[in-house]
Amino acid sequence: MSIWPSVLSGVTLAGGASAWAACHPASQLFGRTVTRIPSRSGVALTFDDGPNPAITPSLLDALDRHEVRATFFLIGRWARASPAIVGEIAARGHAIGNHTDTHPNMLWLSTRRIVDELVRCQQSIEGAGARRPMLTRPPYGFRGPQFNSAVEQSGLSRVVMWSVMGRDWSPHGKQKLLERLKRVRGGDIVVLHDGDDAALGADRRETVQALEYFLPRWRDAGLRCVSLEEAGSCADRT
Ligand SMILES: [Zn+2]
Repeated sequence: MSIWPSVLSGVTLAGGASAWAACHPASQLFGRTVTRIPSRSGVALTFDDGPNPAITPSLLDALDRHEVRATFFLIGRWARASPAIVGEIAARGHAIGNHTDTHPNMLWLSTRRIVDELVRCQQSIEGAGARRPMLTRPPYGFRGPQFNSAVEQSGLSRVVMWSVMGRDWSPHGKQKLLERLKRVRGGDIVVLHDGDDAALGADRRETVQALEYFLPRWRDAGLRCVSLEEAGSCADRT
């Protein structure tokens, strides 16, 4: 029997609870996810939807200037479009994760379609000369009960969500970005965007500017920005 009738009846009977399970970053109902790192002084910055030739190179320079490492969840088709940037991300010591090949909403996709999305992204990242990722983040954070099985079949081992969402993709979110980043504390996984799933060339200058403001302040406050690889056993906490 398909699992979907039970999920659909769950949506009918328990509406909000099922939506929470599928969408909330802290939900563990459809499989274990990582939402924080086990460190009081570490912060994991993550950048989604790149690589983006308009921003990623200057972002990499900014991260280098402040001597911090981060994690980039790349879209496969953008990795194929800018393989040199993928190589540069890896060469500068950042971690790379899989954010699917075309950034679909995977909530209602079959396991087979999800595996296809994840494997094509893996191949694109490897084809650009970087190591095969072990980490993945579902687009929009949406995942159904089939997602973790697809992750395993694709050779990935960790599903990474977040504890702080920058919402830097919208004009309103950009205005509130500094306010949101003020909430960052040790152990947080922060989502920011260097790219856009719809097109290459997105303008994310506000994101880089916000980091230029906060990186020295976080350092002075005793926080250390680490990649999810440096964070090591982050999955043991959540
Ligand atoms: Zn995304």
